[in-house]
Amino acid sequence: IVRFQKVSKSFDDQEILREIDLEIAPGEKVAVIGPSGSGKTTLARILMTLEEPTSGIVEVDGELLWHKKVKGKLVWADEKHLHRIRGSIGMVFQHFNLFPHMNILRNVTEAPIHVLGLSRDEAVERAITMLEKVGLADKLNAYPSQLSGGQKQRVAIARALVMRPKIMIFDEPTSALDPELVGEVLAVIKEIAAAGDTAMLLITHEMDFARDVADRVVFTDGGRIVEQGPPKEIFGAPDSPRLKSFLTRFR
Ligand code: ATP
Repeated sequence: IVRFQKVSKSFDDQEILREIDLEIAPGEKVAVIGPSGSGKTTLARILMTLEEPTSGIVEVDGELLWHKKVKGKLVWADEKHLHRIRGSIGMVFQHFNLFPHMNILRNVTEAPIHVLGLSRDEAVERAITMLEKVGLADKLNAYPSQLSGGQKQRVAIARALVMRPKIMIFDEPTSALDPELVGEVLAVIKEIAAAGDTAMLLITHEMDFARDVADRVVFTDGGRIVEQGPPKEIFGAPDSPRLKSFLTRFR
C-alpha cells in the first residue's frame, strides 16, 4: 500500500534520510524505532505530504505521491494531486491539533462532510461509531479544552479513522502526554490495529507497544534503515551493534 524507493531528504546541507527503501503491505502494521534525530518523524512527514523528499519516489496505493507522470516523465505533483491523495492517509500527531472552537462531534465530522462529501447524517453516524470505538461516546458535545490529553488524542484518532484511510500514520502519538495517560491511548491504538485491516506506520519510543502491535519493526539510525524484521527478532535477537546498543537503553 506504501512504497518508498531511494527516498532521501536533506535540510540545508544535512542529509537526514539516505536512500530509504520501505514497503508496507495492505493491512500491515510497521513500527519505526530509533534514536532521536534518526529521521523517523521526517519519514512520517514525507508520507503525510507535509515534507517533500529531496529525491526518490513515494507511492501510496499504486499512485505516485509527490510526483506525477506527464508524457512519460516524472514531474512534481501539484497541490490538487497532493490534496486528493491526502484523503486516503490518516494522520495522528504528537500534538492533537483539534479545532478548539468546535465540539468533539464536529471535530470528527468536518472532514467527512467537506472532504468526502458525505451528508451530515452519514458523517454523524460514522463519527459516533468511531467515537464509541475510542471510548468517547459520552463526550460528543464537549469541547477539546474540557478533555484530558489522552482523551484529545483519542478524538484525533477517531477523526483520522472516520475517513477510512488506506494507511494510518501515528507520529509519536503519546510523547506529549502525561505518563499516566499514555496507556489509554496505546490501548486504543492496539485495539484498532487488532480489529482493522488498515495498514499502519507507527513512529514510537514505546518499545513494548511496538513489540505488541507491529507485524514488522524498522530500526533507523543516521537516516538509514539499519535493521528490520518481526518484533521477535528485532527485540529478541538483534543483529547490528547499533540496534543492540539502542535496545539496552530500554532494559
Ligand atoms: P525524535 O525521535 O527526536 O523525534 P526523529 O528520529 O523523529 O527524532 P526527525 O524529527 O526526523 O528525527 O529529525 C531528524 C533531524 O532532522 C534532526 O536533526 C532535526 O533537527 C532535523 N530537521 C527536522 N526537520 C527540520 C527542518 N524543517 N529544518 C531543518 N532541520 C530539520
